[in-house]
Amino acid sequence: MTGSTPSKQTPISASRVRDYLFCPHRVFLDEFGDKSRMDPESDLEKLLWERGMAHEKDALDQLGLVVTEVEGEDFGQREKETLRLMTGGTRLIYQGCLSTPSLRGRPDLLEKTQGESKFGSYHYVPVEMKSGSAYLDEEAGTIKEDYVLQLSLYADLLHKVQGVKPKIGNIIDGDLRRVSVKLEPHEPDYQQCLSEIADLLSGKTESEPCIGGICKQCHWWSFCYSWAKERDDVTLIYRLNRPKRDSLRLHGIRTVQALAGLAKAKTLPDIDGISQRALQRFVRRANVLLSGKPVLHSPIEFPKAKLELFFDIETDPLGDICYLYGIVERRGNARQRYVSFFADSPEEEQRTWDEFWQYVAKLKDFQVYHYSSYEKTFLTRLRERYGCNQTLFDDFLQHCTDLYFGAVERCSDWPSHSYSIKLVSQCLGFDYSEEEPGGIKAAMWYIEYVKDPVTNRALKDKIIQYNREDCEAMIVLKDWVVEKNRELRR
Ligand code: SF4
Repeated sequence: MTGSTPSKQTPISASRVRDYLFCPHRVFLDEFGDKSRMDPESDLEKLLWERGMAHEKDALDQLGLVVTEVEGEDFGQREKETLRLMTGGTRLIYQGCLSTPSLRGRPDLLEKTQGESKFGSYHYVPVEMKSGSAYLDEEAGTIKEDYVLQLSLYADLLHKVQGVKPKIGNIIDGDLRRVSVKLEPHEPDYQQCLSEIADLLSGKTESEPCIGGICKQCHWWSFCYSWAKERDDVTLIYRLNRPKRDSLRLHGIRTVQALAGLAKAKTLPDIDGISQRALQRFVRRANVLLSGKPVLHSPIEFPKAKLELFFDIETDPLGDICYLYGIVERRGNARQRYVSFFADSPEEEQRTWDEFWQYVAKLKDFQVYHYSSYEKTFLTRLRERYGCNQTLFDDFLQHCTDLYFGAVERCSDWPSHSYSIKLVSQCLGFDYSEEEPGGIKAAMWYIEYVKDPVTNRALKDKIIQYNREDCEAMIVLKDWVVEKNRELRR
């Protein structure tokens, strides 16, 4: 599918491990794909890279860590310099380079610690600096898998270089917490990941695109989407993932058309890994995708209230700050008003938080509509940060209706590969002013805006417009559901 033949295998790097966990096909395309068909670097990729670099420098300063930065014109030179510093017992080595014939890596920090190695009475452990949280689930103590496997790769490299494998790796995360990870329990996952990447890169395993929610953040998106459209691939159906596609193929079902055809069958086949209920849903979604028209399949009761609030927040994509609360208020079916609380700089986050709750305190007989659980989760996080009247907070959350879970995911099907509010509302004819609207794009505007709010005033207007349109898109969705409710009851 790419025109290239796997040849001598490139060493596996930590970023490859991360990409593999993101999507195996991305690793395949990055190695063998036609680079001229790649999309330009995405806003998120640019942002993450810039943030990562800035965070590393900030974190080093704030923690008062004195490091020795490895310099050199190319990887080979920097690797020699790293070995020289390790041999000399340098305490903290920043941006060192290590390699073996099959692996290569650039750990953020190599930290000298006690314990024998071929260098003497000390050895090194890897430390990664991340601008987000180290945890996938902090309460459960689960560290993000890509961070753990990257540390495992560095530990593997260190084993070869110093003769001793570090038992732990460390993460300094966005909150400057130092989180230690015991690496041994993760060794089987790490080895399996390496072997799967090696199989992909040697051509032993075949790889194909699988359209999913993460694809929009990938530089192969246009290529993979065209591939799927040309073949009418079943992964164009929302939430139909790679393992489910493999199972369907075992039954000769490869296309959206073929899956839709099962609607005519008296009984659905038994397919490994897909329950009958899930299969019915995919068959329904396949038919909706072919028809191009959304369908509400069961009615939804919305709470009655004099004032409806369509609510959307804008945050930094790494989840650090909330810079805008936007609400379109609607009384009856006609009068609308947009209200917003905007932080002109990250330092104003608390001011906007306080203003938002002063606004909420004055509300009466209201119902809030939002899209996905993100708003409630983020408000809860901000309450921990800044505090808030508990009764007011609980009352607001009790008046929230999630249009995504309540209406879109549970009770309707959409002719779209993704059920984002953008695509769902566009199915209903709603138009955004921006060609490719998105929260990440808005966050990029915000980062530019705060650098010089006077000169960049137009960017603030664009962010507000985008936020307002997200709220209006929810109105279009809610009204469609109400209309379809009527039709279902007739
Ligand atoms: S666009 Fe999607 S399927 Fe294609 S490589 Fe990227 S993440 Fe994988």
